[in-house]
Amino acid sequence: MRRREDMTLLEKVYVVEIAKGVFLTFGKLLRNLMFHTLHALGLKKDVRAAASIQYPNERRDYPSRYRGRHRLTLHDDGGVKCTSCFLCATACPAKCIYIEPAEHDDPEIEKFPHRYEIDTLLCIYCGYCVEACPVDAIRMDTGIHPQVYPPDPRRFIEDKETLMQRSRDLEDLGSEKLYQIHTRKLIQIEENASEHIE
Ligand code: SF4
Ligand code: SF4
Repeated sequence: MRRREDMTLLEKVYVVEIAKGVFLTFGKLLRNLMFHTLHALGLKKDVRAAASIQYPNERRDYPSRYRGRHRLTLHDDGGVKCTSCFLCATACPAKCIYIEPAEHDDPEIEKFPHRYEIDTLLCIYCGYCVEACPVDAIRMDTGIHPQVYPPDPRRFIEDKETLMQRSRDLEDLGSEKLYQIHTRKLIQIEENASEHIE
């Protein structure tokens, strides 16, 4: 966005900018209309008719920094890396991380999360928790979208076991398989929903 003092006189008047916006919008509309008509006639099938991606049936390649659903990372012995330091919860702007620390049997480990929960209904997927963690115990590199659940807010809360299991799944299945399983579930939900509508 440009600051008002950096704008030219024409830009400050806005009329030209509004006209440009209208032209762009209607240009896209006419283009899409034309290609949808051609597709209906069996022509130009190789040209996309719209910019929108028909998720989950179509896929867009995400950048490597894409912030997907969280996971708690694990030590080689399968134990959770998190030390219950609360830095993620403190950094979280949505205040959606809940941690209950506990003493660990191992004297080398001061604390571990007896309970670790993320309310993904409140989460804004900003990644601050990942940035704040000093021991790389939480990541958002799963590549999968937030889940779509029936309207029960409790189901959006992801507990420690869910977050740990996601790390195991990522290692065992790989990100591609994990994505396929995730989208298959979403397609199933869509199909069930359309069956109920019909
Ligand atoms: S991604 Fe942002 S909003 Fe979500 S849990 Fe992490 S810090 Fe909180
Ligand atoms: S995930 Fe990281 S920042 Fe959050 S409590 Fe555990 S160790 Fe601390």
